[in-house]
Amino acid sequence: MPLSHALLSAVLSMPCPHCGHKLEMPGRWFQTIGRYECEGCHQTVRVRYGDKVKLFDDHAHLIQIRRSATTGGRRGRNANDVGLRDATPQDVRR
Ligand SMILES: [Zn+2]
Repeated sequence: MPLSHALLSAVLSMPCPHCGHKLEMPGRWFQTIGRYECEGCHQTVRVRYGDKVKLFDDHAHLIQIRRSATTGGRRGRNANDVGLRDATPQDVRR
């Protein structure tokens, strides 16, 4: 599962494996780093790709809510697009 682009600007929280201190940073930050120093215990925390996938997966519910709301809006727009398509062939014939 690829890292969702929709979560890059969302704030994700990742608990430290050593002390449990939660680090809150944007998804974009987590995507680029390989390790960081924990603010709680000052130990180096390694973030592998598998950890990032799990982190993004844990926060997937943040964008699933937005996605369903967007789909409802698009359906309304598509109905209007059908009316525009009917007019297009006539313009081409002229
Ligand atoms: Zn820690």
